[in-house]
This record gives sequence, structure tokens and C-alpha cells, in this order.
Amino acid sequence: MDDDQDSRAAFLPEGMTVTPLEKAPPPSKWNDWVEYDARAWPRRVEKRYAVVPTICFNCEAACGLLAYVDKETWSVRRMEGNPYHPASRGRNCAKGPATVNQIHDPERILYPLKRAGKRGEGTWERISWQRVLEEISSEIRRLILEGRRNEIMYHVGRPGHDGYMERVLQAWGIDGHNSHTNVCSSAARLGYELWQGLDRPSPDHSNARFILMISSHLESGHYFNPHAQRIIEAKLHGAKIAVMDPRLSNTASMADYWLPTYPGSEAAVLLAMGGILLEEDLIDREFVRRWTNWREFMTEERANPAAGFEDFLACLKEVYAAFTPEFAERESGIPAAQIVEVAREIGNAGTAFATHVWRSAASGNLGGWQVSRALGFLNVLTGSVGTRGGTSPAAWDKFVAVPFALPEPQEEWNELAWPREYPLAHHEMSYLLPYFLKEGRGRIGVYFTRAYNPVWTNPDGASWMEVLRDEEKIGLHAALTPTWNETAWLADYVLPMGLAGERHDLQSQETHASRWIAFRQPVVRVARERAGEKFEFTYQANPGEVWEEDEFWTCLSWNIDPDGRMGIRKYFESPYRPGQRITVEEYYRWIFENSVPGLPEAAACEGLSPLPYMRKYGAFEVTKDIYGVQNTPLVPAQLQGTSVDEADRVLSEKDGKTLGVVVDGKAVIGFPTPSRKLEFFSRTMKDWSWPEHALPGYIPSHVHWSDLDREKGEYVLIPTFRLPTLIHTRTGNAKWLNEISHSNPLWIHTSDARRLGLRTGELLKVRTQIGYFVVRAWVTEGIRPGVVACSHHMGRWRVRENDGTGRWCSALVDIREEGAGVWRIRQVEGVRPFRSGDPDSERIWWQDAGVHQNLTFAPQPDPISGMHCWHQKVRIEPPGPEDRYGDIYVDTNKSFAIYREWLARTRPAPGPNNLRRPLWFQRPFRPKDTAYYF
Ligand code: SF4
Repeated sequence: MDDDQDSRAAFLPEGMTVTPLEKAPPPSKWNDWVEYDARAWPRRVEKRYAVVPTICFNCEAACGLLAYVDKETWSVRRMEGNPYHPASRGRNCAKGPATVNQIHDPERILYPLKRAGKRGEGTWERISWQRVLEEISSEIRRLILEGRRNEIMYHVGRPGHDGYMERVLQAWGIDGHNSHTNVCSSAARLGYELWQGLDRPSPDHSNARFILMISSHLESGHYFNPHAQRIIEAKLHGAKIAVMDPRLSNTASMADYWLPTYPGSEAAVLLAMGGILLEEDLIDREFVRRWTNWREFMTEERANPAAGFEDFLACLKEVYAAFTPEFAERESGIPAAQIVEVAREIGNAGTAFATHVWRSAASGNLGGWQVSRALGFLNVLTGSVGTRGGTSPAAWDKFVAVPFALPEPQEEWNELAWPREYPLAHHEMSYLLPYFLKEGRGRIGVYFTRAYNPVWTNPDGASWMEVLRDEEKIGLHAALTPTWNETAWLADYVLPMGLAGERHDLQSQETHASRWIAFRQPVVRVARERAGEKFEFTYQANPGEVWEEDEFWTCLSWNIDPDGRMGIRKYFESPYRPGQRITVEEYYRWIFENSVPGLPEAAACEGLSPLPYMRKYGAFEVTKDIYGVQNTPLVPAQLQGTSVDEADRVLSEKDGKTLGVVVDGKAVIGFPTPSRKLEFFSRTMKDWSWPEHALPGYIPSHVHWSDLDREKGEYVLIPTFRLPTLIHTRTGNAKWLNEISHSNPLWIHTSDARRLGLRTGELLKVRTQIGYFVVRAWVTEGIRPGVVACSHHMGRWRVRENDGTGRWCSALVDIREEGAGVWRIRQVEGVRPFRSGDPDSERIWWQDAGVHQNLTFAPQPDPISGMHCWHQKVRIEPPGPEDRYGDIYVDTNKSFAIYREWLARTRPAPGPNNLRRPLWFQRPFRPKDTAYYF
């Protein structure tokens, strides 16, 4: 605080003093924190609060929050940062404190609802949780007993927890997990997986000397707030930052180097940088020698098993000789001299080189997975993998506690999520579900959507509407959601689930070189229990009957197997009270007492047992300063019954599994790849029919510049960028956030606008392969010429005046199906003030709800990673006389045909040994190994 005062004082006019910012109250006062009521000002009226820690649920970062619960009304008055959270350290982005808006949203769903009319008609009846449990459990039970396990699917948008759903789905014995990963991060994941056997990066930003981001981490990236604060720390300590992004994001504006690459050319630039590192000998030779599978490459690809390391380096230079800075300039538009300069900066940073790509270029382009692979190549060459200031595999920096008595993995393999055409996908081919159902590949009997809004989020939402309304294709649809959304409108049951301060979850994320866990809590329940009350279920303390999922799934599972004969119930029995149904408190108590190293001891130091400690602080740091995990020695007990093969791998003699690798005479764990090294050469790619991509390389994008003619109005549309203030669906009912952000104009460069005769605010029509949308222009120098961009957060809709998606964020629309598969959506009116229990709803001054664009995108599944390639080749036209702002037109017949075209590019399984997927590849909710075989 003193440092803050000093630094702020330096900017003040002479004579003005600084009032210290209020610190968070000390934990000793969290049971009874007293402050004056701001609303009573100027009178000094004391208010008493229970301060309860929880974790934010408005993005994946899981930052800490402190809820201030009014002890008179048991209402949450505000949310602030939790200083005891190791990643967020008391700070939040705007979305954290705005949780309080979501809690008090007058339009939120407070009770379980069942549809009363036709699906999508919008008539509902309130029902009890007991009835929900009975009706849904009996359907699931029937499907399981009839051997139709693959007809049960749980489709999650934002998990927000670690572990509980594995217990549920694996106890049911189903392969029913589906995710949103393939519209988010699967391309980047594959690139990392091929290198290191772990599919995400964890940059140690705060200790870096050079940071290269192919993303916008300072404003909205993955693990946004925890990363942003560490990037700024590094900058304050002298680190330089480079940002590759065709758009001058707020992140790029803070960088030392803005590299506005032509979309899809990023891998070419990265490989050219790699070439410079090699040519100028700016590499960490020892690291590359010790930790890459260069010998395997020389043996397999150069038929030279006797080659030495210097031979390999010579060969490497040859492989990347074509990637000159001049070639990269032609592809990307970045001057060759700047590429050389940044490469030298990277080389000079050496092992303190932090990098990240998450969605961005990887998610936008055909072959985007080679972007993360090429980025990883720079980390490998500089030896900055797993180092202080470098970039580690994410799993090193994430702690997932193991709960008691886990079910066996399932024996099933669900081809509706894991089709044979995409054996290397990361992960489920979630957004292709409508086409699979239309093709008759299967049927879904019970479909849960959970914090997931595919109609609005996924490409070609109209195809989702078509299958969701068809009861032959989807028998029972239950939407578990904290707020109304466009998909819940098409459900049979709408089940209100808690927000950040209304549920239990355990989360850990790879935010920095540390492992921590954080505990989400239902803050009113905890505050009232501190005051001596008791609750059987969290919905008894939450607003209305908003429940939490842990308790819901426990009760549902118990109802499916009430007498235990199906073998399900036992996984939901208390480890403390045999034969009794477990309580949510017991579930977490067991984990904290048995599964988190150091927590019982830390708690004991405060005279607490582990659960009360976590209830008090909300987070715990398990280990910090984690580097060089690959060097962990195999201990003598691990080496018993092993042998070392010709590739220096330590193999178990019992089952042939690889346990580690011998490097320079020492047996260590290495990386979880087949070679236990970082795989420059991927035998997996070769074995699985993609030999041309066995090395880090460059795949020209489906929106390559040579395929576009600007004179004909053709552009690349970047539809993926996030805003710092909104997140997909969940922030729709946060009034503060919608007041800040409610418009998504199309960014277009001044030179392009001139060519088209456009000015800021004027309407334009953006034509895609399957339709069009009408949006306003924002003319700017902050984007590459030839590229246009539109944020995907906007364009929420509702079809009823006072029902459905919240009125803070949505336009009232008219949706018409004009012929089979031909859909037209027109805004009837934008956002308007409305009367409610919250007087702010009558003060709404904005009218714009933005324009939805994802509906007009055909699916474009990368044939290898399975990623939907978000970038679009579009044609920009002036609007016609009938066109109005927000108009959307799509033809799902065309999207189906395009799905088929992209499908034809795949090289389906089986792979070696009749496998569906390489055994060493990660998979969420991994089944038994036997299920990997056809
Ligand atoms: S970055 Fe913002 S939205 Fe995400 S968890 Fe942290 S506070 Fe919440």
C-alpha cells in the first residue's frame, strides 16, 4: 500500500495528498465486518457483513472473490477480490465484481421449469426438484438398463470445476461427455500435445525477459486477469512484449512489437524466426540435444542412425531454409527486418522466453494447430521449456485433487462425440453433432446442456435449432443454466444452477509456475451456517430454488439406482457414514483431509481442520516455483522391473508402458510423449496417415490471401475476438457489463472503407458461404488492410417480449423459417428500458444489442485437430433497400453440404493396431484402453 501511495503521489499536483485505498478486511474480521452503509450517507449507519470467499465463474480463470453478505437480510451486497487467492491476488477484471448483478438480476431463472407446450413454444410450468429428479432419472435408468448408454449425453460449455462430473458419468458407465473445446482451443492443444504430450502451455510471465503472445492476454486472453497482472509485472521489470494479431488490440497497444500478420500466416513467421535462431546460433544446444527426439528423426527420416547432433542441426537448417524472412514477409506482410529483430530478441531472452497462443490464429485457420507447434519450436530452440521465465506444460502448474473411491473408466466409446474421421481431434467433435444426427449416426435419449448455448455460440446455430426441436433426434433435453439463453428456450426442462457465489466447486488453473486449488462456495449458505443455521441442500439458502450441480448430480445418481443394484449408488455414499448419501460438505471434506498435500498442516497451524480452513480462505497454494519437472529422477522403487530400450526409454517389463527416459546416464521422467522427449519429429503423425506433417510446419489457411480478391469486395473476417467485459452467454445478465459493452461494429481499415465508400456507423452487408448479416462499420487504422473483424459477444436475442434471454442484453427478434433450412431473423426492437424489481432496468439508455454472426458460418472442421476454423472468407456489400441492422439470413442446406466437403478431407481411423485414437493422446473422461480399439 505504501508503494502504491508513493507511485500515485508522484503524479499528483503539488499540495494534493493521497488517501490510502481501503485494504480488504483481515480474515480475523470476516465473520463480522462492519462498515458504514453507503446508501445512508451522509448519516453514519453501520452495516454488518459476513465476508465469504468464493471463486469467479465468469471465465475460466477462477479468480478469487470475497462476497459481502449482509447479515441482516442475508443478501450479497458486493463482490471484491480475495487477496488470499494465489493467482488473482486480490484483483479481478470487471466481470468478477459484476457477479453481484447476475445474482440480483430480476429476470434470472429462480425455479425448475418444465415445458408445457411444444418444444420452443415458450410455455413453462414450475415444478419441484423432486419431480425433476424422478422424471429424468427414470429415463436415464431405462436407457442404461436397455444397454443404450451412448444415448445419454452431457454437453458442457464452461465446466468450472475439476473432477465431479468424471465421478458421475463414469459411475453411470457412459461415454457421454461432450464439450465446447473444438470451438475454442483444440487446434492449439494438438500442437502442444504433439510436442510435449500435454496439450496446453503455462507461461511464467512475471519472470520472462521476452513475451510473445499470439493472443490478447492483457485484455481478454485465457486466464486473463492472472496473466495480465504478471505480464505487466514483467514489463515493469524490463521485459519486452511482442503481439501477433492483425487487430490492434489493447494488448497489442501495450506491446513493444505489434506484428499484424495476415491471418493464417503466423506459423510461417514463427518458422522464419526459428531459422534465424538456427542460423545465428541463438539456440540452447544442450537443451535441444538432451530433450528433443532428434536421434529418432535422423534414424526414421534420414536413415542415418549413426548421425551426431551436429548432423541433426545441419539437417534442421536445411529443413527450414525455405522459411526465409523474405518468404515470411510475403506471406504475412510483416517486414523481414522486423521478423529478424524480434527473432534476435527471442534468442537473447534465451530460457526466459514466455509464449502463449490459445484461440486466436490457432482457432481461426485451417492448419492452425501448426501455429502452436511452430511457437513451441521457438521455446524448444531457446531451451525455454519448463524454465524460470519460460513456458511449461500446463499440467505442471495445475493441481487436481483425487477424490475417494472413483469409478472405473467406462468401456464405451461414443462415436457421436469421437467419430472415426477425427482420430487426432482435441477433443470431442461437439459442433458437428447436428450433422451427425441428421445423417442418422445415432440418437440422443437424454441430453444435458450445461452452461452451454450451442444455438448462439456454435457456427450454424440454425442447424442446432433444427435438431433441438426434433424429438426424434433428441428425446429429452434438460438445460442446466444460471440464466436464460437461446438454447434453454428449446429445452424440456430448464434447471436453474448457481452462479459464482451459489455453488461448490474445486478449481485449479495453470496461471503461473505454481499449483493451487480454489474453492467455490455458496456464500449465503456458508454465512448462515456460520450463524448456526443448517441446510440439507444449497437451494434452500440460494435465491428462489437455484441449486448447485454437485448436489443435483448426487441426488440424480441416487435416484437412478436407489437400491444400489446397478452399481451406481455406491459412488455417492458417504465415506464417513457408510450406506448414507454423501453430502456436499463430506465430499470436499474428504478431499481436503486426504488429497491436498500440505493443507492439513497449514490448517492445523491455525487450529483448524482442512475444510474450515478452505471455507475461511477459499484457496490454497500447494507448491510454487515449479520448473524443470522433466528432470525428476526415477527413484529405485520405480526402476524395479524395468528395462531400457535402444531409444533410452525406461519400460515397465510388466505391461511395456514407458515410465521415463535415460538422459546423459540418468533415468528421469521426461515428457509424456512416446519418446519421453519433446517430439520435433512425430511418428504419430506419420503412422496416422499425415506423414507430410510429421515436423513443425506451415499449412496455408483456408483464407489465404491469394484466394481473395479485394476488388470484388472479398475480405477475411476475424470473428473470434473477445472483449474484456463480456464472456459468451453468461454475462448477458450483468447490467454493468452490458452498459459498458453493447455494440459490435465491424472493424475495417480506412483504405478499405475508402474503396467501399463507407463511413463509421454506416450499414454494410457481410456475405458468408451460407448467408449474410447486416452490421455497422467502424473505420479504423487499427486493423490490417484486407481484414475485417467483429467481436462475437453480441447479438443475443429473444423471441418473446418479456421472456427468454435477458432484456439487459437481447434484441426482440422475429425468426422465420421460409423454406426447409432457410432461416431469416430480423430485429423487431433493440434493448429497451423495462420495469422490474431493479430500478436500473428503467434507466437503460442503450438500444443496441449488437449483431449475431456465428449463425451465418458453416462448420469448417480442420481435418486433423477437429477445430472449427473460425475465420471466414466474406464479401462485403452495401445493404439493399430491404436490409436492416441486425438482419440475418442463412441456409442450412448449404451448411450441411459444406460440412460434407470438409469431412471429405479427413483420413479416418483405424490407425496402427486397429486403434481409434493413439493410446498416448489425452482424452477427457478417458475410457478403458480396450475402448480405444475398434
Ligand atoms: S479474469 Fe475476470 S471473469 Fe475471469 S475469473 Fe478473473 S475476475 Fe472472473
